[in-house]
Amino acid sequence: MTTAASTCGTEPALRCLSLGAGVQSSTVLLLACEAVIPRFDCALFADTGWEPKAVYTNLARLREHAAKSGIPVRRVSAGNIRDDALDPAHRFVSMPLHVLNPDGSRGLARRQCTGEYKIAPLKKAVRELLGYPHPRRVPRGVYAEQAIGISTDEFARAKDSDVRYLRNVFPLIDLGWDRARCVEFLAERGFGNTVKSSCLGCPFHGNAGWRWIRDNDPDGWADAVAFDHAIRHGYPHATGQGQQLRGQYFLHRSCQPLDKADLDPSVPVKRHLKLVATSATEDEDPDGCSPWACRSGTSATEERAA
Ligand code: SF4
Repeated sequence: MTTAASTCGTEPALRCLSLGAGVQSSTVLLLACEAVIPRFDCALFADTGWEPKAVYTNLARLREHAAKSGIPVRRVSAGNIRDDALDPAHRFVSMPLHVLNPDGSRGLARRQCTGEYKIAPLKKAVRELLGYPHPRRVPRGVYAEQAIGISTDEFARAKDSDVRYLRNVFPLIDLGWDRARCVEFLAERGFGNTVKSSCLGCPFHGNAGWRWIRDNDPDGWADAVAFDHAIRHGYPHATGQGQQLRGQYFLHRSCQPLDKADLDPSVPVKRHLKLVATSATEDEDPDGCSPWACRSGTSATEERAA
């Protein structure tokens, strides 16, 4: 890694990968290991503490694989999102829960979790690696190049970073690779069973995502069902502070308890789901949670940390 002190021009002081350990970012890491794209000084995995077991398993083998090419995989974290959400003593950070209002209308709660549990720790780590931890100012011209695993089929999600010291690049778009090409490449390299990365109980899951958890990760499913019951009337911290939330809160888009929800592939999208869904049925996952693909994930805390 080039030291921050020696780099104030157009070259990045650091090359890193925002690693979600899902299909696209795993592909980008393997491409760097094979020198198809420039090598990374490190890959950063923002751990919400509530990913499916399969993602942690993939992370472990990616770490081992990348180490052989001299790329360290570092875990960064702002805590365990599940534990924090249910802790009456913890400041409540809103997840995009589905809301059934008292008048029967439906909505979607604010999403602050991505900013708090993914963007903030990633930015914190990059600042530290650059040599300018918060609150030190990062000098103009010093920056990290951050690779993001966004494929050509989702190019609309490719966004610039909102801070000067981080410049996003999109190697899969540059190579013209779509998700199917990534899946094929991973299979060729023995990483064929790489699963989508997101919190176990993410309200953005479509029916396909929920079915996968139910059918492949029984402990994870039981955990998500228990969480869904526990947040029916809001977060314990909010209610404990006398902020009685109106309506009922659900993980599933149908505003049904998760263990009662119809996970059939053909269930049509309900009107309020247009807030989050881009597919024709509830089966497919919508865009999901990429730390750098949605500015609404930025929270006040993250801005302070930046
Ligand atoms: S995966 Fe879902 S619950 Fe987890 S941080 Fe992202 S939006 Fe929030």
